[in-house]
Amino acid sequence: MRFGEWDVRTCIAGRFGLDGGAMFGVVPKTMWERLIAPDAYNRVPMVMRVLLVRGHGKTIVVDVGAGAGHSEKNRQIYAFEETDHLGDSIRALGVEPSAVTDVLLTHLHFDHGAGIVEPDGNDWRLLFPNAAHHVQHSQWRHAFAPTPRDKASYYEDRMRVMERDGVLRLHEGPWSLAPGFDLLVFDGHTPGQQLPVIGDERARLFFCGDLIPTHHHIPTPYVMSYDLFPVTVMDEKTSLLERASAGNWLLCFEHDAHVEACRIQKDGRRFSTGERVEIDGK
Ligand SMILES: [Zn+2]
Repeated sequence: MRFGEWDVRTCIAGRFGLDGGAMFGVVPKTMWERLIAPDAYNRVPMVMRVLLVRGHGKTIVVDVGAGAGHSEKNRQIYAFEETDHLGDSIRALGVEPSAVTDVLLTHLHFDHGAGIVEPDGNDWRLLFPNAAHHVQHSQWRHAFAPTPRDKASYYEDRMRVMERDGVLRLHEGPWSLAPGFDLLVFDGHTPGQQLPVIGDERARLFFCGDLIPTHHHIPTPYVMSYDLFPVTVMDEKTSLLERASAGNWLLCFEHDAHVEACRIQKDGRRFSTGERVEIDGK
């Protein structure tokens, strides 16, 4: 699908399950289980959706999923399915991983950033070796000094490979990767989450990352227990949804197993799911 001068495709970098209670925070199970049915371990099915964006001489991958090589313990906790290989999915869209010019990491939680590398004997090698890897500086600092609450979300050895191989590019606050590819910065879920808004006034796409992980998280109180500052997330989400509904933006959900993207409906001060759209036009 085209957004201004950019061609955008999506693919699934992997599937996993997260605790339903953690996904919906203070919303009682009697309410959220009507939206997504949990499995026997109370996990709800999630995907790790990735964008492939081409234009202005660039080939950009937005987030990379969790990759492979997980410990047995994590495999059991998160029910990782390692059947989707991001390199193969990108090739299926006609792009060699070595031709990717930029990897835009919204933040470094493992389900967004651990897939930058693949196992290489006892070590790791970059999946996109020729790409600049973009991270907010505040997120990079936080990732190596996390709180006890989010420590388990960062895989330090994998993140260090970006530094070792000289591909890390750190950014301070909102910035532009190219004309019509702008990064907005949010601090409620974790410090320095950068999310792209792509296109022009005729057609804009916003990739929601962990600000609005699924379409079920559009209503204000639906925020995750994983958020470090949930009240900040509610404020950030409300102002983003205001902009999105006023500009008729399409919102793409990184973790939604059922709804890839939708527009936003506004009734008074309430936001809800509008027209659903398949970005690849399937
Ligand atoms: Zn996250």
